[in-house]
Amino acid sequence: MPLTQCTETYDVVIMGAGFAGLCQARHLMLKRPNIKIALVDPRSTERSPIKDLKIGESTVEVAALFLAKELGLYDYLVEKQVPKFGLNFHWPKSPKNTQTIDDYYHIWTNRQPEIASFQIDRSEFEQDLLKMNIEQGAHFINGRVIDVDLTPGDKLNQVKVRTQHETLEIKAKHVVDAAGRKFIIGRKTDNLLFGPENLYGLNNGASWVRVKDVDRNLFHDGYDPDNSSVSHYYATNHYFGHGHWLWMIPIDTENNQLSIGMMHHHDVLPAKKVNTQEKLMAFLKANHTVLYNLIQSGETVDFHYWPRAAHKSKKMFSEDNWYVVGDSACIFDAFYSQGSTLITFAIESITEIVLAKLAQEPDAERKREVYNRFTLGYNDTVNALYHDHSKQLGNASIMSWRIYFEYIWWFGVIVPLYIGKWHLDLDFCERTVKIFDGLSKLWFDIYDNFNQLTENKANLGFLDCYRADQLIFGYTTAKHFDDFTQNAKYEPFRLNVFGSLKNACFYAIAWLIMFRWKGFGWRGLLSPKHIKNVAWVFSLMVFAALGELVFKIKTRHLPDNTETERMREEFKTYHYIPELQPSIFEDLKQESSSAGSQSINKDNKDSSSVELQSVG
Ligand SMILES: Cc1cc2nc3c(=O)[nH]c(=O)nc-3n(C[C@H](O)[C@H](O)[C@H](O)COP(=O)(O)OP(=O)(O)OC[C@H]3O[C@@H](n4cnc5c(N)ncnc54)[C@H](O)[C@@H]3O)c2cc1C
Repeated sequence: MPLTQCTETYDVVIMGAGFAGLCQARHLMLKRPNIKIALVDPRSTERSPIKDLKIGESTVEVAALFLAKELGLYDYLVEKQVPKFGLNFHWPKSPKNTQTIDDYYHIWTNRQPEIASFQIDRSEFEQDLLKMNIEQGAHFINGRVIDVDLTPGDKLNQVKVRTQHETLEIKAKHVVDAAGRKFIIGRKTDNLLFGPENLYGLNNGASWVRVKDVDRNLFHDGYDPDNSSVSHYYATNHYFGHGHWLWMIPIDTENNQLSIGMMHHHDVLPAKKVNTQEKLMAFLKANHTVLYNLIQSGETVDFHYWPRAAHKSKKMFSEDNWYVVGDSACIFDAFYSQGSTLITFAIESITEIVLAKLAQEPDAERKREVYNRFTLGYNDTVNALYHDHSKQLGNASIMSWRIYFEYIWWFGVIVPLYIGKWHLDLDFCERTVKIFDGLSKLWFDIYDNFNQLTENKANLGFLDCYRADQLIFGYTTAKHFDDFTQNAKYEPFRLNVFGSLKNACFYAIAWLIMFRWKGFGWRGLLSPKHIKNVAWVFSLMVFAALGELVFKIKTRHLPDNTETERMREEFKTYHYIPELQPSIFEDLKQESSSAGSQSINKDNKDSSSVELQSVG
């Protein structure tokens, strides 16, 4: 094959036009329209609705807002993708009987979530986004990256691409690896960590099918007027059992097509039991008959098995201008649909670093270093979220408490942190990295408690993270502690993240006390470890309260939203003008009557229809 040197030098070469690569390209181009981007992928601009169906269909608040707001795709998502109404959770009342959804205990989303999210048909989404990117100016190279020469510092990097007809050598200032599990940079730089010893014990695999034309009434007939104001079907439905959980995600609104899959933990449920379609179906027939019947009622589109789902990277953003994002960087477990959230945080950081470096900003390298640490820290907390899942997933009581506690942090800290763009504030990032570390330690202590209670077969009752009648003061985990949605505090650093953190800590302490009391009684409340944990959360609350004070002083003269303020300012000169402007219709009428057209005057009905047509 001839070797061709590409004459163009790109600002950024993105290897891989999947979810992460395409979103990265669009984000960069929206932030800097004249940026020179090459997108490389062996798949063409047309994506097959079967071969290119990928896993990762469900989004939660952060990724959904990123797609809708930051990438400007809200209308597209409404028109072409699938609405999502939160996460539902189901545990069998008895593992022996799982025929219908009534055989499960539930946490149903009971109302419209305040922040909209979506389910995504990945082949369609990627095909559409690739076309949008090309129209916006990205250069798409339909080929496979076969090598990359990463150079130190700001020297140009070289990417070698094999297309159908030639081998191309492309020069780029920045190289983004978004080629998924090909790990182009990960392998080149020895950047990857696999195995439970590097992943807080996580040792999971995934097995899934896509099935269309299902009889969805086998899941639910949609009639539940006393319990919820939103759809049960258009949610991510989670089913639990010993050492595994399953997702059920609708990926279209026309053909009743579902993605149904399982994350399993090898220590409880080994690969050999679920690594083929036949075995998965046999497992479902025995353990989740409702899902088995659902799949049997339709036509199976595809099946996949991944024996090793989880891995992570040692570095996300290098001083040598390479970056890893998406599956090329890390993934842990599909629970809570964190994949696209991890991608969101990484993309926004990469954009900031690349633009700062291209503009030769003095703090560009500090940005790179701090964002790298922050993103690794966030990845680590996500990894920690799945610690000891293998022992607890099937326990409805424990998992309901676990989900409730983890939601306190998600809605109380991570969602506001993201919306306020605090992950791009360098000082805030520096401090938060330390908090991430403390948070993981706190969770691990609690997960130990959960293990103990699971072994003792304790029943702590059932917490429903959507309800407001279980902790104190009518708290529900989705509660916002700042008026950021009402007052559109979407500009960077306008949202009071400190107030959110302070309140989240308060309810976390309330939860901790209730949990230790219910699980372990007085001894539990008085144990030094519990007191230490409460003290740590309390110190975080004090830190947040001080932060809030400083924040309020610093922002006291700033409007919540500049555009609203500008309009209000402009409105001060507004006067109501009680007049109507002549419409085109009237103009035409006047013209025709002044021309004195005999034929029109003869028949008014005809004339108005002629005028209307000409206006229309
Ligand atoms: C079981 C499971 C379920 C999941 N479910 C969810 C979920 O519900 N929600 C969620 O947010 N996340 C989920 N995730 C995470 C999800 O996988 C990722 O969010 C997402 O798919 C990653 O996309 P990506 O673009 O990094 O990789 P991919 O989508 O794999 O894209 C990689 C691209 O690189 C291209 N490529 C490959 N080799 C080369 C090469 N040599 N040169 C150039 N290009 C190349 C490929 O053709 C492809 O287009 C799940 C993960 C697992 C394991």
